[in-house]
Amino acid sequence: MVTTRFAPSPNGPLHLGHAYSAIVAHDLARAAGGRFLLRVEDIDGIRSKPELAAEFRADLAWLGLEWTEVPAQSSRLASYDDAAQRLKDMGLLYPCICTRAEIAAAASEIGPEGPVYPGTCRGKNIPGEGAAWRLDVAQAQARTGPLYWTANLAGEQRAVPEQTGDVVLLRKDAPASYHLAATLDDARDGVTLVTRGRDLFGATHIHRLLQELLGLPVPRWHHHPLLVDGSGTKLAKRRGSPSLADRRLAGDDGEKLARDLRRNRFPAGISLGRA
Ligand code: GLU
Repeated sequence: MVTTRFAPSPNGPLHLGHAYSAIVAHDLARAAGGRFLLRVEDIDGIRSKPELAAEFRADLAWLGLEWTEVPAQSSRLASYDDAAQRLKDMGLLYPCICTRAEIAAAASEIGPEGPVYPGTCRGKNIPGEGAAWRLDVAQAQARTGPLYWTANLAGEQRAVPEQTGDVVLLRKDAPASYHLAATLDDARDGVTLVTRGRDLFGATHIHRLLQELLGLPVPRWHHHPLLVDGSGTKLAKRRGSPSLADRRLAGDDGEKLARDLRRNRFPAGISLGRA
């Protein structure tokens, strides 16, 4: 059974790019007679506004989508702690007290998520209390050997988590990082086709490594192209594109919008970026 999901973070309203993403995931599941899940990823510290989840449901219903909702991430914190503890027990996590500015100043490479952590705290005796915990990617890879994953549009990929470097798995300001929580939840929710934007292609290398370390099933991935504005920039509420809630409350026809997005017909100035 094909299971896909839409996993928005409630730190801002949904916009057209989210609608496109949800429709792609919904339709891939429906075409295969499978399940489409909604999971609210509400562990983003102070930026998370759990009350937005009700808006998200109203937006998806307005688009004419049907879904099964699984528990929000805030109710699953114990499972993130357990997994992090297992990785600590394997000796694969280390505490880090570097600031973003220190990392930016010391980094010599830029990866898919920005400056690659130069390993400043690795191998030092930094107290864990109040620190972030990073995955020692080289040690982790030495343990797993080469890994591969398959994406619908891009084909078979060799996992290159070293591109992203030693990512944070336990944040100082939040219960877990996106990488750890999303990987665990996709396994727990039985997601077989992880559908999300092309901007998260690089994250998948890390997720594949985490799956192997934690003995999780390996899904397939579908990274869809992103909606972009006239300058080729990914749509986001803060750049002024109207939210789905704005359109819904203005009385726009959501099912018509969904039909247009399915036919790649976008409002003026918006197009589909490079796949
Ligand atoms: N919560 C993530 C976001 O809103 C989801 C990413 C994913 O689909 O894996 O960007």
